Amino acid sequence: SGAEDIVTGCPKESDMEVVEGSITLKLPEGSNEVLIKNLYLSADPYMRILMSERESPQSLASYTIGSPLAGYGVAKVVESGHPDFKKEDLVWGIFGWDEYSLSPQHKFFSKSSTLMSHFPTILEFLVCICMPGMTTYAGFFEIGSPKKGDNVFISAASGAVGQLVGQFAKLMGCYVVGSAGSKEKVDLLKNKLGFDDAFNYKEEQDLDAALKRYVSDGIDNFENVGGKTLDAVLQNIRVQGRISVCGMISRYNVDQQEGIKNLIHLLLKEVRMEGFNVSKFYHLYPKFLEFILPHIREGKIMYVEDIAEGLENGPAALVGLFSGRNVGKQVLLVARD
Ligand code: NDP
Repeated sequence: SGAEDIVTGCPKESDMEVVEGSITLKLPEGSNEVLIKNLYLSADPYMRILMSERESPQSLASYTIGSPLAGYGVAKVVESGHPDFKKEDLVWGIFGWDEYSLSPQHKFFSKSSTLMSHFPTILEFLVCICMPGMTTYAGFFEIGSPKKGDNVFISAASGAVGQLVGQFAKLMGCYVVGSAGSKEKVDLLKNKLGFDDAFNYKEEQDLDAALKRYVSDGIDNFENVGGKTLDAVLQNIRVQGRISVCGMISRYNVDQQEGIKNLIHLLLKEVRMEGFNVSKFYHLYPKFLEFILPHIREGKIMYVEDIAEGLENGPAALVGLFSGRNVGKQVLLVARD
């Protein structure tokens, strides 16, 4: 209802509300629509960008005040008048944050039963294969062009994307260091996710010195945080190193300009720094599956997820991404089946 209502600063639970409404669980005669029931929804940092007046990532429309949030999810077809879908099909794509919805309000990516049959659970599909997995694949392999023996530093390392980047980098034979915001997360990185080392950035006065302590001969970087972290990365980047800019979560809630001080290292060390948007990489999906499915089957890739139950807990789950409340991929369980 006006620009003054658009979220500013850190999103709060009170910026969102849970509203009850009704929907007829029967399609009208002759309809070609699809009625779906949401099972799992994915809470993602980019959703904050869609709540602001600032420019949104290409290909994503900002949210409209008064309409449901929308994001990636897995849903079940309740009724279908569309020839491509039938009752009980599992579908994945971008869905509204509601219990039931009618297409074509939200576009399906695909019918996912075949894909999901590779995974023990829908959850595993959502966490590993859906958007975070594709993001990791695109950002690490396509943008980062890694080589065996690289020293890879990953920020927000225990999160949805970070935990997979670290595991992909280990599979490549890289030395992998991550930063995260709590002791629990650091332990997870070192003891469960196979990182060579990890540190709690909240306990470091000097991030430049911290990075030098873990890798003395220069890093390549998968960047999820931006701001001060990126500045320290620039001070430690290797000659002809690469920075794959996946995200800048430390900047999504602030309006001021970046204030990066160490950009000159890009020039001095002939560094390639490149941002990317996963939505431009879905043509690589078959290649990604070919890569990841055998590793999953052999138990070489694991994932950690954080599940909030019930749509009413959606706002807290989403807000929690900005205080680091989530441990692993934040998922919202709407219904089990
Ligand atoms: P995560 O699961 O990593 O959750 C976000 C985490 O970020 C929090 O748990 C917190 O962990 C950390 N964080 C939050 N605020 C700050 C801050 N101010 N400074 C430092 N760390 C912070 O999220 P995802 O893995 O889904 O996303 C990671 C990044 O990747 C995000 O920047 C996201 O926007 C980006 N992304 C980009 C895509 C693309 O196409 N380019 C696609 C998908 C994601 P901690 O406790 O460690 O602080």
